[in-house]
Amino acid sequence: MIFPGRLDINAVALKQNVAAVRAHLTGQKVMGVVKANAYGHGLLGTSRALIAAGVDYLGVAQLSEAEQLAAGLAADPAMRRVPIFAWLFGPDADLEAASAAGIELSVGFPWVLDKLEALPAGAGIRVHLGMDTGMAREGFAPADVLPAAQRLAALEARGTVSVVGLWSHLAGADHPEENELTRIQVERFEQARRDARAGGLHPQLEHLAASAAVFWHPATLYSMVRVGIALYGQALDYTVGTAVDLGLRPAMTLSAPIVADRWVEDGTGISYDHTAHTTRRTHLALVPVGYADGLPRSMANRAQLLVNGQRCRQRGAVCMDQIIVEVPAGVRVGDRAYLFGDPAVAGGPVPSIEEFAGFGGFDSFELSVRLAEHIPRRIVRVE
Ligand SMILES: *Cc1c(COP(=O)(O)O)cnc(C)c1O
Repeated sequence: MIFPGRLDINAVALKQNVAAVRAHLTGQKVMGVVKANAYGHGLLGTSRALIAAGVDYLGVAQLSEAEQLAAGLAADPAMRRVPIFAWLFGPDADLEAASAAGIELSVGFPWVLDKLEALPAGAGIRVHLGMDTGMAREGFAPADVLPAAQRLAALEARGTVSVVGLWSHLAGADHPEENELTRIQVERFEQARRDARAGGLHPQLEHLAASAAVFWHPATLYSMVRVGIALYGQALDYTVGTAVDLGLRPAMTLSAPIVADRWVEDGTGISYDHTAHTTRRTHLALVPVGYADGLPRSMANRAQLLVNGQRCRQRGAVCMDQIIVEVPAGVRVGDRAYLFGDPAVAGGPVPSIEEFAGFGGFDSFELSVRLAEHIPRRIVRVE
C-alpha cells in the first residue's frame, strides 16, 4: 500500500547548494551533515545525492545512524566512497565494528579514551579529537586537551588509533554579526591546535564551522567545514533573510493528492471543536497529511497550501492524519496539494518551508526533522 503523501527531494537543488557553499570556501573540504535522517530528507537517498554532488565527507551525530548509512552505501559498489564521521554514541558502542564499517569517531569524553586504551594494538581506528570551545556540550574542556592529546598520541604510537582530525562546534555563529562568543571560541580552538601538537598529534583535518559560519564568519573555516542546513536550502537566520537571498535552493517539497472534496453551506463548522466556520457556501478539500506525519497542530487555521497554482487556506483543527482546506470551485479529487517547498517543483507560489513552519511557530529544520519516516522520499531532478 502506498502512502498518498510524498516528499520530493531535488538532487539538482542539493548540488546547487553544495556549489553555493563551496563559493564561500578557499579549498576547505566539505562534510555534508546528514544527521536526523538527513534533516528529514531521507538518509540514504540524500547522502547518495550529496556524494554525487561532490561532498568529501558525511557526518551524523548518532553512531547508530552512521552504521545504517555505511551499510546502505556499501550495498552500492558504484558509489564513490567517502568517510563517515559520527560524534555521539553510548558507553556500549562497539568502536572496532564501527571502524571496520569505515566510520571515523569523535573522541570527546574521558571514557572514550579509557575504552580505546582497552583495545588491542593495531586496531587502527580513525578518530577526531573533539574539544569544547564554549558550548558545554561535547568535547574536552580547553584545559584537558593537552592530556587527552598525550593519551591519544600513546594510542597512536601502538596503532590503536590514527588521529586524523581536531574539531569543535560554535554556539553563537548562527547570526551574521561579529560577536564576542565566536571570537573567544576561535581563540580557544587556536590554543587547542597548539596543545594537540604539543601532545604529539598531527591532525590533518581541523573543523569548527557549520553552515552559518561558512557564510558569515570566514575566520572559522580551517581545513574542513561541517554543513547541514545550507545544503538543504533552508534559511540560516530567517530574521535576516530567506535561503533564496543567500543563493540557496530548497531541496524538499511536501505534497499529497486531494482525496475528497465537498460543498458545504454557510455557517458549517469544520473539524474538531469547530474552531472554524464557513461564512458562505464553500468548497472544502481533504488532504491526507496530519500531525502523525509531522505537521504541527499549532498551525491550525493559519496554514496555507498551494492547490492548482493557487494559495488556499487550511481550516479547522489539524487532525492526526488529515487536514481540511478551502479550495476554488474547479479543484477535484486527485489534484495535488503542495504544503511547502520549491516553486519550481510545485509549479506555483508554494509556501517556503520557513513560511510553512512559521504557521505553527516552528523553525524550518524543526519541521523537516519531524516529518515521519513513513512519508515516501523520492529523489527528483528539477532544473
Ligand atoms: C548539526 C551540526 C552541524 C551542522 O549544522 P548546520 O547549522 O545545520 O550546518 C555541524 N556540526 C555539528 C557538531 C552539529 O551538531
